[in-house]
Amino acid sequence: MDWQRVGDEAVTLLRDYLRVNTTNPPGNETAGARFLAEVLDGAGIASETVESAPGRGNLMARLRGDGSLGGIVLHHHIDVVYADERYWTVDPFGGLLRGGYIYGRGALDMKSTGMVQLAALLAIARDRVPLRRDLVFLATADEEAGSRFGAQWVADERRDWLAGAEYALSELGAVEAGHGRTPFGSIVISEKTGLPLRLTARSEPGHGSMPWPDTAPHRLVRALGRLLAAERPEHVLPEVRSISHGWARSCLPQRVRVTIGSRSRSATPTSGRASSAIGITRPSCGQPSPSTCSRAARSATSSRLRRWPISTAACSRARTPTRS
Ligand SMILES: [Zn+2]
Repeated sequence: MDWQRVGDEAVTLLRDYLRVNTTNPPGNETAGARFLAEVLDGAGIASETVESAPGRGNLMARLRGDGSLGGIVLHHHIDVVYADERYWTVDPFGGLLRGGYIYGRGALDMKSTGMVQLAALLAIARDRVPLRRDLVFLATADEEAGSRFGAQWVADERRDWLAGAEYALSELGAVEAGHGRTPFGSIVISEKTGLPLRLTARSEPGHGSMPWPDTAPHRLVRALGRLLAAERPEHVLPEVRSISHGWARSCLPQRVRVTIGSRSRSATPTSGRASSAIGITRPSCGQPSPSTCSRAARSATSSRLRRWPISTAACSRARTPTRS
């Protein structure tokens, strides 16, 4: 495999892809799908693009394996969030490469992932790498506004695109390896969700020239103020609790810090996509004591998850299950 070529190709693809404005709303993902289809077509890989609504393109391409193992879906979303050019120092849709960095809206979220996946697909096809698993390249619309016209639509309407798939790789999550350490895998089980509210205030009508103390606008402003000031109790999701317990049992930390993004504070599993932004300072395993690990488990599952510095001296038999 010519890795230099694969890398250069990924850079070129990403810069070109960034120049396709797929700001959502309105999305216009069909333009992005068209770009992907042309690249795939140029490599002799057939693809299918279907619009879930006018302009809302979704694309799938499949490299066949021998079928002995389940397929892997390489998924990314085509759309990007709004970029206010007044606050950018470069053109957000210029695909600029400067000083070893690529600039543009979507360079992180998540056209880069899509282009890494695409470059891999092209390289595998070009070198005729024999596959045991099908590779399904899936690009969807509308991730930034709920996925109704994208991933959700594919799940509802085009399940055949996912036929035979066993795994899917998409946004976030990673496997960190190297540096002589045990590989560390992280997954994202959910994200925060929006909470659209519509508040309506009603009051007696009257002439605006009079100093009415309790007009509908007054009530509305007061309600918004109360909303802003409302105390929202911190809520530890069961998934976070179980991760913390697992760490406390097995990782023998000398020092561990967990940072939960504040935007996840009010999220609950039932509210849809809940927490995200879990920052982890990798544990460096020492010799913690069971009691310390127990304390770690309790700390981690308490309501004060935002900062969790734990210094331990010894925890030699920490694999003993702990309870909180
Ligand atoms: Zn994203």
